[in-house]
Amino acid sequence: AEDVNKIKPDYVKSFLHVSKLMPSTWIVIRVDGCHFHRFSDVHEFEKPNDAQALNLMNSCAVGVLEEFKDIVFSYGVSDEYSFVLKKESQLYQRRSSEIVSAIVSLFSSMYTIKWKEFFPQKELKHVPYFDGRAVCYPTSEILLDYLAWRQVDCHINNQYNTCFWMLVKSGKSKSEAQNYLKGTQSQEKNELLMRLSGIIDYYNTLPLMFRQGSSVFWHTHDDKKMSNQGNEAVGKCCKVVVEHCNIIEKSFWEAHPDILG
Ligand code: ATP
Ligand code: ATP
Ligand code: MG
Ligand code: MG
Ligand code: MG
Ligand code: MG
Repeated sequence: AEDVNKIKPDYVKSFLHVSKLMPSTWIVIRVDGCHFHRFSDVHEFEKPNDAQALNLMNSCAVGVLEEFKDIVFSYGVSDEYSFVLKKESQLYQRRSSEIVSAIVSLFSSMYTIKWKEFFPQKELKHVPYFDGRAVCYPTSEILLDYLAWRQVDCHINNQYNTCFWMLVKSGKSKSEAQNYLKGTQSQEKNELLMRLSGIIDYYNTLPLMFRQGSSVFWHTHDDKKMSNQGNEAVGKCCKVVVEHCNIIEKSFWEAHPDILG
């Protein structure tokens, strides 16, 4: 009991280094599943794209937006999700480690708790976990470049993976498929897909969710309600929506002007 009095809180606290994210910038938190290559093997995800696994990711993202009201937009593909916080956000006084850890932890918990809703027949064999990082983007132009980069990545990976798995399913070994695709251009991949599937423009027949990833955001619309006095009261009614759209084109952002404000 004597020893307790010897501990000086100010001295111990002086070691704490608080890292704050730059003010008035868009904060992007990207979470990514750890070892999901293995996780998807163990849980027998459909290759190259397991729709239910993507729907589960999307549902977790919806939950994160509902909990953290400062998140204005998020974009997900594969085992990753990027969450965009509004420029003026004061969440955790913009302390990086708290924002990242809270979002990552909520996302991971939701993934676990929602698992049986999306995979009622599959046992969760080991706990999924995610890592997370924070980056600040000073202008909305650069933020849109970031999001475009993720969507381009989605397309490039999906095109490659679609070819890879089609070659494997046609009887090639994984290393044969890999060698076959080495150095091929986009056009050659499209021709390969057409040849193997027998369908013209096969790639574009794939679900939008696979080709464009998922965008999650608040859909706001005017909600007309009759008050007790019988006069009309107009309020904003919101709900979180999941869409699979082209976010590289400016037209998406022009059609949703309230997302970035
Ligand atoms: P790290 O821990 O470094 O992130 P990782 O194994 O998670 O490693 P990623 O680069 O993040 O590797 O890639 C995620 C992998 O998870 C993909 O390559 C794919 O194999 C698998 N995966 C994720 N989501 C799906 C899905 N919906 N359908 C099929 N496979 C998926
Ligand atoms: P914040 O989100 O800022 O951390 P908080 O509500 O989690 O807010 P803390 O200062 O972290 O507040 O305190 C945790 C609180 O959780 C305690 O004050 C107590 O009420 C409750 N709590 C935590 N563990 C226990 C426990 N084992 N038994 C009873 N109550 C607990
Ligand atoms: Mg990673
Ligand atoms: Mg990963
Ligand atoms: Mg990943
Ligand atoms: Mg706390």
